[in-house]
Amino acid sequence: MKTEPTMIIIGAGIAGLSTGIYARMNGFDTQIYEMGSLPGGLCTSWSRKGYTFDGCIQWLVGTNPASSSHVPWQEVRALEGKTIYDPEEYLRVEVDGQCLIVYTDVDRFEKAMIDLAPEDLKPVKELTAGIRSLASMDLPLDTPGDPLAGVKSATSFLPAAPVWFKWGKVTMKDFVARLKSPFLRRALPLVAGEDFPIVGLMFMLSWMTNRNAGYPIGGSLEFAKTIEQRYLALGGKIEYHARVEKILVENDTAAGIRLSDGSEHRAAWVVSAADGHATIFDMLDGKYLNDTIRGYYDTFPIFQPIVQVSLGINRDMSHAPASVSFPLEQPINVSGTERTRLGYKIYHFDPTLAPAGKTVLQVLFDSNYAYWKAIAGDTERYESEKKAIAVQVIDRLEKRFPGIAGQIEVVDVATPLTTERYTGNWQGSIEGWMVTEKTMKMAFGKGMDKTLPGLKHFYMVGQWVEPGGGLPTAVMSGRKLVKQLCQKARKPFITTTQ
Ligand SMILES: Cc1cc2nc3c(=O)[nH]c(=O)nc-3n(C[C@H](O)[C@H](O)[C@H](O)COP(=O)(O)OP(=O)(O)OC[C@H]3O[C@@H](n4cnc5c(N)ncnc54)[C@H](O)[C@@H]3O)c2cc1C
Repeated sequence: MKTEPTMIIIGAGIAGLSTGIYARMNGFDTQIYEMGSLPGGLCTSWSRKGYTFDGCIQWLVGTNPASSSHVPWQEVRALEGKTIYDPEEYLRVEVDGQCLIVYTDVDRFEKAMIDLAPEDLKPVKELTAGIRSLASMDLPLDTPGDPLAGVKSATSFLPAAPVWFKWGKVTMKDFVARLKSPFLRRALPLVAGEDFPIVGLMFMLSWMTNRNAGYPIGGSLEFAKTIEQRYLALGGKIEYHARVEKILVENDTAAGIRLSDGSEHRAAWVVSAADGHATIFDMLDGKYLNDTIRGYYDTFPIFQPIVQVSLGINRDMSHAPASVSFPLEQPINVSGTERTRLGYKIYHFDPTLAPAGKTVLQVLFDSNYAYWKAIAGDTERYESEKKAIAVQVIDRLEKRFPGIAGQIEVVDVATPLTTERYTGNWQGSIEGWMVTEKTMKMAFGKGMDKTLPGLKHFYMVGQWVEPGGGLPTAVMSGRKLVKQLCQKARKPFITTTQ
């Protein structure tokens, strides 16, 4: 007779795998059902004719072994055997014939801004002082307001309070309004959007200056596979090509799941690490809902979906700057909107992604889900839109790198519908709830509910219950849930790196 797993986890993204790993460390029997064929969800890459195109990791918080934020990655052994690349530059932004280099080292970044805009010495120094303050702390990946995180963790955030109070309500738009230099006023919003909270940028640059936000060589899928191996080695089970259609509920208690092949599987606990909207409104038919949760989906902005153009190029570009945003003389039309800039990333720092002497170059555009959804049924139109974007991108790159058009061996275009199809994420979002003042307050406070009103033995983890999304929050989401379950069962929460 088949024994029932005690915990069913929907989705083998980083949050689902992490839930499985910590659950196994604490004695739960776990079964993950994943609709795709691979682990990782959004944390993925794909291969085409000898090139690997990465779909996720730009910077991963917690790569510095000296940092507390490294601990969960050690526990899930995500970085085992991996080389970390810490870039010198985050981004080059070209505006009006000048170039701002956003160095990852805060001193160099400060000098670069002051050299270009000496009249803004004071606000620039205030900005970099905030970055240095955050960098001087060893912040764990816990949510500061989470009572389960413990006193030590909560107090480690206390020194960040002055930065929070000074900058917590300031957006990029507010900050640049204080600047005198027209160049800096235009360049900085190209580093992070106009509505982006400045404190979010400060956190990012504080991690970077501490060499704590690197890139694991091998890319996103290899990273996810390492975590999957950890889960399997701990005795966890995964079934791929297993799409969960419904969550079974008996007496307002989650009792298991039904797959799209009609088979039913039961467990004591059901954890959804899949898309939030699909979980609440489709798998549970919107039956367990209140105004607060409905309000999230009605009003909170999400990280916009993207169009990703990936090129495999028979050309050595190892001496070119890796990450650049430059203005276009002739705009590009993407999903019905004119783009006057092009941002590209050259992956020369990861030799595993292209054959020797060749290069992967990628261009990302934020995009409009509704535009793509409207043409989804018309394959010819959909394909021709994709092709038109690639043609325009290659044409503009040719002007910058003469001869490149003839050296391109592979062209791959992914749209918001690609993201939706492969990961199920609502409207193709790449990271769930957008970082805004409101969602940051939530993330730093008591967080978003991980349960649904009236439904017992059911939890949600991952980017749709952790505002701001990202890989560190995904791994912590599973960790926090299992800790909570252990606390409820009055047993110690066990973690191990062994
Ligand atoms: C282009 C891009 C760049 C990014 N860059 C970074 C970065 O530099 N640093 C960073 O920290 N984060 C980055 N992110 C964000 C990060 O990838 C995500 O926030 C994180 O991976 C979310 O993990 P998750 O497990 O919560 O969700 P997901 O990855 O969405 O996992 C959900 C899983 O559930 C499965 N699923 C869905 N529905 C079902 C169903 N019905 N049945 C069974 N399975 C189902 C999906 O197939 C998927 O595997 C980036 C994302 C993108 C797309």
